[in-house]
Amino acid sequence: MNQNKVALKNFTEEELKEFMKTIGEKSFRGSQIYSWIYKGAKSFDDMNNIPKSLRDKLDEVSYIGNLEIELKLESKKDGTKKYLFLLNDENIIETVMMDYESRVTVCISNQVGCRMGCKFCASTIDGLLRNLEPWEILDQIIKIQEDTGKRVSNLVLMGSGEPLDNFENTKKFLKLVNDKNGLNIGYRHITLSTCGIAPKMRELADLEIPINLALSLHSPYDDKRQEIMPVAKAYPVKDIIDACKYYIKKTNRRVTFEYSLIKGVNDSEKDAEAICKLVKGILCHVNLIPINNVEERDFERPDKSYIYKFRDVLEKNNIPATVRISMGSDIGGACGQLRRKHK
Ligand code: SAH
Repeated sequence: MNQNKVALKNFTEEELKEFMKTIGEKSFRGSQIYSWIYKGAKSFDDMNNIPKSLRDKLDEVSYIGNLEIELKLESKKDGTKKYLFLLNDENIIETVMMDYESRVTVCISNQVGCRMGCKFCASTIDGLLRNLEPWEILDQIIKIQEDTGKRVSNLVLMGSGEPLDNFENTKKFLKLVNDKNGLNIGYRHITLSTCGIAPKMRELADLEIPINLALSLHSPYDDKRQEIMPVAKAYPVKDIIDACKYYIKKTNRRVTFEYSLIKGVNDSEKDAEAICKLVKGILCHVNLIPINNVEERDFERPDKSYIYKFRDVLEKNNIPATVRISMGSDIGGACGQLRRKHK
């Protein structure tokens, strides 16, 4: 349907002005259209200060780029909302909105599926179907703002997919979402989570944009990490920790280590002590995530006493640690499971 047409939501305001020139129009039209897009225009006919001839021309060569809400579920426990969005090619992605008192956080997807193969994760079961374009990442936020009437204040790139495996589109997305005349979400309110593609982490650091980096660590040991995360075969623990240190040096931001606790796999006090040794002296925070059970995988959550014992070891060693409370557990589990069920 949209083959050979360009998605206008992929453009910054400057790029949209340039694009207007390439189709023989004045560049100020680019600013007008940009402003319509962020006012929520769904079609060119909504843009009533744009001449009909230009609206027709735009329709021939471009499209705005809109996701459709396929399904929305709201948690009765905590108000968390989960959205399934339909893409133009009929693929489906999952997005979560968490509404706390002082902030509204959205967890966005970056790819349809994922090729990283982490053994405990639902998103990777059918592999990678395709990368999301910048506008498809951005529009998850736009549509949620429209649907709820709330302004999204914080973003986590922790939905389906590996952002550093779709790096070019992610970089473009970050630029778009931060734009003052666009959604204007500050870099300091954005967290990008990666399974640990070390060279790309360094590239991200070199951009020197102050977003927060989260690293999915999940084990301090190379052999254990390789068992549960195939990507660890390419990038050993030392390599990804060095990349984190480089990130901190470049950006001055505290890094988060995510640690999904799996019963009998990585939840012992010995594991906790090894984590302390590994991250000692690093400007960091450890986020413990009791594993969400995925139907197709046979990993289990540790008992509560193990979870808190693990945290206590970290705290005793002065490593700041929190246990992530699971939001929206009554509406389709977490981490790409709703999308799988819907399919
Ligand atoms: N690809 C990125 C971001 C997506 S996953 C990454 O790997 O970091 C976001 C976080 O959720 C990661 O730490 C991931 O390891 C974790 N995760 C995935 N499936 C999970 C599950 N079933 N239970 C708990 N955490 C899970």
